[in-house]
Amino acid sequence: MKAATLIRDIPDFPQPGIMFKDITPVLADPVAFAEVIAALSEDIKRLRPDVIVGIESRGFLFGAPVAHELGVGFVPFRKAGKLPYKTVTQEYALEYGTATVEAHVDAIKPGQRVVIVDDVLATGGTAVAAGQLVEKLGGATVGFAFFIELAFLAGRSKLVGRDITTLLSY
Ligand code: AMP
Repeated sequence: MKAATLIRDIPDFPQPGIMFKDITPVLADPVAFAEVIAALSEDIKRLRPDVIVGIESRGFLFGAPVAHELGVGFVPFRKAGKLPYKTVTQEYALEYGTATVEAHVDAIKPGQRVVIVDDVLATGGTAVAAGQLVEKLGGATVGFAFFIELAFLAGRSKLVGRDITTLLSY
């Protein structure tokens, strides 16, 4: 896909040893961006989601257009302290310290089928926490979808038994 040729590798960002996948050139190219949204939507469709969750912040860039394409609602999962209404929170471990994903308490209705979207699957910690938050809210996580998978970080192994869509794998 054209999008694969536009991803820019930035070494040592945001810290030494990380090869950051910069997807902004993909967003800036209307053909590439459209093909990514179409491919994600086409694969997610079979899961019959009621809601697409996007994880802050680059998950919003892919999740919201996919939701629009599929004709379903979009729910942002945000970092701590950003959402204005009552929230439910899920903490998760990082290499050093912890991080938090947060959602509005009424963002997902009990029993709704949810697909979680993010730009990159790395270690999988963020995705696992997002899945736990969906379940705290009473939803059913029926799948995960990522534009890019960093296979060498084995995030998939944390999502065993889950339905996972990825368009590009490194
Ligand atoms: P993880 O919890 O390790 O799977 O990390 C996933 C989150 O971190 C995603 O929201 C990604 O946007 C971001 N991320 C992790 N590693 C990279 C990378 N090498 N390039 C770009 N984004 C990354």
